[in-house]
Amino acid sequence: MKYNIALVRGDGIGPEIVDSAVRVLDKIADIYGHEFIYSSYLAGGAAIDEFGVPLPQETIDGCLASDSVLLGAVGGPKWDDQPPANRPERAILGLRAALGLFTNLRPAKIFPALANACTLRPDIAARGFDLVIVRELTGGIYFGERGRREGANGPEAYDTECYSVMEIERIAKVAFETAMKRRKSVVSIDKANVLESSRLWRETVERIAKDFPEVSLEHMYVDNAAMQLVRDPSHFDVVLTSNIFGDILSDEASQITGSIGMLASSSLGSTSRGLYEPIHGSAPDITGKGIANPIATILSAAMMLRFSFGLNVEADAIENAVNQTLNDGIRSADIAVNGQPTVGTAEMTDEILARL
Ligand code: NAD
Repeated sequence: MKYNIALVRGDGIGPEIVDSAVRVLDKIADIYGHEFIYSSYLAGGAAIDEFGVPLPQETIDGCLASDSVLLGAVGGPKWDDQPPANRPERAILGLRAALGLFTNLRPAKIFPALANACTLRPDIAARGFDLVIVRELTGGIYFGERGRREGANGPEAYDTECYSVMEIERIAKVAFETAMKRRKSVVSIDKANVLESSRLWRETVERIAKDFPEVSLEHMYVDNAAMQLVRDPSHFDVVLTSNIFGDILSDEASQITGSIGMLASSSLGSTSRGLYEPIHGSAPDITGKGIANPIATILSAAMMLRFSFGLNVEADAIENAVNQTLNDGIRSADIAVNGQPTVGTAEMTDEILARL
């Protein structure tokens, strides 16, 4: 099969880790007889330098014309003084909106070989966990009405959380469908004891749940969920959240795995085209040193094969090669503990390729 992949390398370690993922994709193409055709586009700081804006129209058009998009990371101190509307990170929000991506899927699991890098107590880490956060991506407070005004106590600012039934229905369906392919359990996060938007969220999720009788549904307040995630993450299978709650909980969930350089994410809409990216940023502190861990981006490429192209065997092959590499004790600096020897970005990629 032939697929057009838009590569948005971005800034910092972005180019280094995307190139590692391309090497893995190329080997998959060779083994399984596919053709991946790459087109490269600028976004973030690199685009500001070239075009004066973080998300040029050319990048949007190129991504829209592709079968899927693989992104590295954007941002860095060089662009910190840009005005808010022109900051590199705006490129990600803009791409999600332009591609109509309303779902963010963020798996967080503990890799058995890395259990000693987990930040939780050893007895909790030993139980293991494998959850996925299904986060609504284009609604809620990040997109609601906002402003500054004069209030009774002087100047004030406000942001508004607003969700339509349609927005809640479509993300809830994704969560239940995801659960059907996993352990058939959804925990829906809200703050229904306080927020009206959360009460609509809860009612709507309950209605959608009736179409998925095999899936168990539990509601959890967001403050409790933040606590349960560190107390017993093995409790969770699929976690369904609004935009802001998902933003916060998914960072917490990723951090408890102890390995930010390991976690992939995908953003999807109503077509098969997705945006796949590691959850970490552009890591300016290690840029150019050749030591970035490429695994999150390589696993993001595997998610692309699975979710956008339906190539499950090929995605399994990449995930198995990564697991085998870790089981064989190969470590980049971010996941090494107790003085273990480490490899750089290129060597880690070589080791994974050797196990494909
Ligand atoms: P970061 O994720 O870039 O880095 C946090 C820490 O994790 C750093 O010490 C870094 O060296 C390390 N790290 C991250 N990825 C790693 C990898 N693959 N291998 C080894 N170590 C890794 O977060 P930050 O420092 O808060 O942000 C840096 C820049 O990235 C900022 O400009 C921020 O806005 C941007 N950012 C972009 C995205 C994105 O593009 N989606 C996400 C988060 C942050």
